[in-house]
Amino acid sequence: MNGEMRKLMTFIADYHIHLERGPFTREWARRFIENALSRGVTEVGFSEHGHRFPENRAMLPVDWVDAELDQYLRLVRALKDEGLPVKLGLEMDYVPGFERPIAAFTAKAPFDYVIGSVHFIDGFCFDDPKNMPRWQGLDVDAMYVQYFRILGQAARSGLFDTIGHPDVIKVFGFRPASRPDDLWQAFLEAAKASDVALEVSAAGWYKPVGEMYPDPAWLPSIKAAGIPITLASDAHDPESPGRSFDRLLEQVTAAGIDSTACFTARQRTIRRLGRS
Ligand SMILES: [Zn+2]
Ligand SMILES: [Zn+2]
Repeated sequence: MNGEMRKLMTFIADYHIHLERGPFTREWARRFIENALSRGVTEVGFSEHGHRFPENRAMLPVDWVDAELDQYLRLVRALKDEGLPVKLGLEMDYVPGFERPIAAFTAKAPFDYVIGSVHFIDGFCFDDPKNMPRWQGLDVDAMYVQYFRILGQAARSGLFDTIGHPDVIKVFGFRPASRPDDLWQAFLEAAKASDVALEVSAAGWYKPVGEMYPDPAWLPSIKAAGIPITLASDAHDPESPGRSFDRLLEQVTAAGIDSTACFTARQRTIRRLGRS
């Protein structure tokens, strides 16, 4: 089999990669791409946080603006022009009530896909390591109810192509009194009804919870609902793209999932997933 044939038969995209700890330069980006490709990733999706850009300043109670959208667009365009297998993505915070500004921002650039992620509940950035001590005094059951309610709203908003790390509420290992299967099921129905993909992410293995996102016990329910997935490392450094993807592929394959969503200019196609 020649190389091109093999390429057609195998597709593994890492759609969740952050360049944010370095400059928007080709040299910095290439380090991420090289590591991804060396791990068998065939498509590399950059997904800078929406909150880095001044257009989204009003959405959040924190000011994390440190980048210009034009510079990000120019970099990914240059990488594409080099023939590298990259995609222009975005990880957008979902905050209820900000649907119109989110739609306006995501329409400003030729994004290939937009990840919708919930990191805030009532202004509290629950997954920020700096905020971990605040969890001690919280009603964990209520946090899960609120999280999955907002996540369902994110899915139903129709603003996103895939939903990021869809149970990141567990990041520090705080768990509700009983398994939140009913909350997950209600969210899954929202995702199914709005035809949004769900992210399957290795990042949780590197967090205090030590478990992938979402809970692997829920992967069969994604398959049963016929909801497409995207794969994610949530890399924040050049060493992490494609990290633990063998393990991730084992998990999704065990659940009967054999395809993945692929996005170009926010148009979705489904491709067979796997290694040759
Ligand atoms: Zn995130
Ligand atoms: Zn991320």
